[in-house]
Amino acid sequence: MGMKVAKFGGSSLADAAQFRKVKEILLMDADRRIVVPSAPGKRSSTDIKVTDLFYECNRLAAGGKEMAECFDTIRARFHSIADELRLSADLDAHLDEIYRNIQLGAGADYAASRGEYLNGILLADYLGWDFIDPQQGIFFDAEGRLDSDRTQAELGALLRNHPHAVVPGFYGCDTHGNVKTFSRGGSDITGAIVARAVNAEMYENWTDVSGCLMADPHIVRNPEPIRYVTYRELRELSYMGASVLHEDAIFPVRIAGIPTNIRNTNHPEEPGTLIGYEAEDYESEHMITGIAGHKDFAIINVEKAMMNSELGFGRRLLLALEEQGISFEHMPSGIDTMCVVVHQDAIEGKKERLMQRIHELCSPDSVEIHSGLALIATVGRGMVRSKGTSARLFNALMKAGINVRLIDQGSSELNIIVGVDNLDFENAVRAIYRAFVVKEGRW
Ligand code: ASP
Repeated sequence: MGMKVAKFGGSSLADAAQFRKVKEILLMDADRRIVVPSAPGKRSSTDIKVTDLFYECNRLAAGGKEMAECFDTIRARFHSIADELRLSADLDAHLDEIYRNIQLGAGADYAASRGEYLNGILLADYLGWDFIDPQQGIFFDAEGRLDSDRTQAELGALLRNHPHAVVPGFYGCDTHGNVKTFSRGGSDITGAIVARAVNAEMYENWTDVSGCLMADPHIVRNPEPIRYVTYRELRELSYMGASVLHEDAIFPVRIAGIPTNIRNTNHPEEPGTLIGYEAEDYESEHMITGIAGHKDFAIINVEKAMMNSELGFGRRLLLALEEQGISFEHMPSGIDTMCVVVHQDAIEGKKERLMQRIHELCSPDSVEIHSGLALIATVGRGMVRSKGTSARLFNALMKAGINVRLIDQGSSELNIIVGVDNLDFENAVRAIYRAFVVKEGRW
């Protein structure tokens, strides 16, 4: 029998009604045998996430201030779930112990992790499944990075003995045996790590949207959902700002060849987005998979006649950036020009020194820095095989009266990046979307 690991985000487990939906989803498919819960999230736009309340309690306690009121809010949230579902777990005993530990200085990671811990206890009780504390199976090394080998071996062995288990997200154990959390949103990572450790056939990531969309809904009205996307495409889209999954949640499942399915807890009938391993596995309906972009980049344009025959020119140019602690994003180049794209923030306050070092190290004919550039990535595995993709894209931008300031088609052929003025950003995204996605009469 195959095995599916199902991770549920904070809004999917925000109250008792959501717990009921989660149970129904889990019982719908017998392969769903391991569940990874987040801490209760927001129930409305004005609500506060339990994780944030825990951080606040810790901040108050660390500053010698009273945290009882803040902690009572947490207590009430968990009680509302446990009481409504008539759970038998001794919630107050857990809460009292956590309160004491935070007051005794257990630290921010411990405090923040308790949202997932308690939600895990309640969910295990509600489902009648075993509770597995990730402190026993997810390990970090002395540098604070995930110890993949140890985790893989020990978590895999631990879970083998539990046919149905609840493993709270977001935290594990450091080299001293203390709780350590991932970065915010890290329950996604736990889900991926668990899926890899048990060699799951599928990693399901249940959230409050029906998967990824082809473009930002703040820019394009009702963009189409993405049905299939490959891990490589997703990486390119998320690098450019499309956020669905925590970035670090991709690696464990990607290298293990496990697909990820993003699903909507409030609409389980919808298929969501399937993130697969190989492009060939999935036919795409459109020539492109998605469009993503960002404003506020800067281009450093360096010109020097005969630069191609000057050994080490590129290295010296990048050295000037490295010396200032600036990392670059792209580097499209011409015959006698080299162009380095960086985040505008990254060069703030460093421009003069940077220009000076480029002059000293590279003796260029000219150097100019232009800010206010937006980059837009049009991503699609289908572009490799189809002719005319770039013609269609540039034609669309031309018709919309948009001046293209930079073009970069990386070697992957998965992606065409164009740079436009910040002011043209939204119009350019809409023009590209119209050119590739909108069928006649639908716009
Ligand atoms: N509860 C944690 C956070 O709010 C982790 C997560 O939800 O994935 O960041």
